[in-house]
Amino acid sequence: MRPLLDSSEPDSFELVNATGQGDVVLVCDHASNRIPIQLHTLGLSAQELSSHIAWDLGAFWVARYLSTRLDAPLFFSNYSRLVIDCNRNPEAGDSIPVSSAGIAIPGNQGITPQESLRRRQSLFDPYHAAIDRLLQARAGRASFLLSIHSFTPVLQGVKRPWPLAVCYEEASLWATRWLTALQTQLSAAVGNNEPFQIESDVDYTIPVHVQKHGVPAIMLEIRQDEICNQAAAKNWSEIIGNAWQMISSETPIIE
Ligand SMILES: [Zn+2]
Repeated sequence: MRPLLDSSEPDSFELVNATGQGDVVLVCDHASNRIPIQLHTLGLSAQELSSHIAWDLGAFWVARYLSTRLDAPLFFSNYSRLVIDCNRNPEAGDSIPVSSAGIAIPGNQGITPQESLRRRQSLFDPYHAAIDRLLQARAGRASFLLSIHSFTPVLQGVKRPWPLAVCYEEASLWATRWLTALQTQLSAAVGNNEPFQIESDVDYTIPVHVQKHGVPAIMLEIRQDEICNQAAAKNWSEIIGNAWQMISSETPIIE
């Protein structure tokens, strides 16, 4: 099988601050809108590839600033979720989407099982194996998984009022503390499992790594118009960092 990535292209993912000593481990599944050269933009225009269908706008900046603020290792994918979604079960139908938000993805139509496998082995598997290894290596010390995403301000004509949201699979003390710590800093309501909640048959990163490593985890979803430039993203990383400072000064969480 021909490698998906040419030697001139970046690896499937990057790990920043690998030896970070903080208790948080950051992941950013949808950090990039890059498409491997061989896939010819998947047949999409530059405008489509710069839109939210290809990536979580602004999420990488927030994650990168947080990695410094929390002294946290950060894993981020270097390729678009349109190539293969790192937060979907690779067996699921939308792992390699044939359309997104009503836009057909020409390069994903009718692809062979071999091509699906090539994308999985090239991009998805290395990313999750590396997260696995790090969480394994940290066994015996506190680790909290924080997954950074962003969402569009309007979807199918419906406005989303929350500037930021805490999303989780099951209610937990950790999620409650995040909600409280963020809400004390903000006048607008923090989304509580809105606009998304984590579902084990839809999401992948949190359900799978939580089950395997038993770490508390939440997803922070930030509205994209709040983080449309680096200065704004840095500001949000400070708010999130302040929330973590509040949380980590409270009684240790044993879940
Ligand atoms: Zn996302």
